Amino acid sequence: MKKIFITRKIPGSGIKILQKKDYEVDVSDKDGVLTKEELIDALKQKEYDAVLSLLTDTIDADIFDAVPKAKIFANYAVGYNNIDIEVAKARGLIVSNTPGILTDTVAEYTFALLMAVSKRIPEADKFTREGKYDGWAPELFLGTDLKGKTLGILGAGRIGSRVAEIAHKGYEMNVIYYDIKQNDDIEKKVDAKFRSTPEEVLKEADFVTVHVPLLDSTKHLINAERLAMMKPSAYLINTSRGLVVDESALVEALKNDTIKGAAIDVFEDEPKLAPHIASATEETRSKMSEIAAENIIAALDGKTPPNVIT
Ligand code: NAD
Repeated sequence: MKKIFITRKIPGSGIKILQKKDYEVDVSDKDGVLTKEELIDALKQKEYDAVLSLLTDTIDADIFDAVPKAKIFANYAVGYNNIDIEVAKARGLIVSNTPGILTDTVAEYTFALLMAVSKRIPEADKFTREGKYDGWAPELFLGTDLKGKTLGILGAGRIGSRVAEIAHKGYEMNVIYYDIKQNDDIEKKVDAKFRSTPEEVLKEADFVTVHVPLLDSTKHLINAERLAMMKPSAYLINTSRGLVVDESALVEALKNDTIKGAAIDVFEDEPKLAPHIASATEETRSKMSEIAAENIIAALDGKTPPNVIT
């Protein structure tokens, strides 16, 4: 009987799908992220054939060593910067992710953040809850309109493209973008204009939203120098990965009014500071578990999983 280890309880029917295949499925019973030692210890309990990992698990050579029989690490996320892909590749291990299914959810959440910061909803909520509201006033919590403004997208892949559509079709915003590849689809669909450098986007946009994967080339893509290029009236939204933005530089930029505001789902030092909930809807988190399970089943059946990375 094939044995699967899941590093934390996940919603949806993924576990049932694996059990229906007559796999023995063990789920960590810790209410939180396993430390590296705990994960190694758990993986050594049985000869696991597959591991369903979360983006909060750092999967490196030591972890691979603890499960010598494992064929696949199925990551329950679209990002896979938590897994040492080079080592996995060198060892002939399969790594998969759950792309596509999160696209609409994360794009919607990006807009939730954009609206919250530009309409000052959290500030106004706190103000009211603190009992400070004593009547309508002409200058109370002045925010910013979206219609006719320019949205700058850094990374126009699946999520960035969907954000472009929402911006243009829903809010009549103009869209400009930078990506290492030009995206004909959003140029046709929403008249998005390509800019050949991130700097051009930063200088021109009223809102900048980041949707690149975390790679060596995108670490601190948004740094002090680039924040200084943004308009003082502009906002930064980050739902990609914390390390894509230099957080200390962002704090300084906000303190010094270099930019008007920022709304972020992801932080450099997670899980100390983090909602990281852009994909957190019942529908999506449940479908992610099904996709991760299907990736495992394909790998253990000797087939190529639908969402293989390596
Ligand atoms: P994707 O691969 O479809 O899109 C990424 C885009 O970034 C691609 O078009 C790629 O060409 C571009 N890119 C790569 N390197 C670049 C660079 N140096 N400069 C500019 N563009 C570059 O991925 P996706 O499904 O749109 O997801 C994007 C990222 O969003 C994921 O990698 C993940 O880290 C993050 N994400 C976060 C959450 C969350 O909960 N906050 C959920 C899902 C995904």
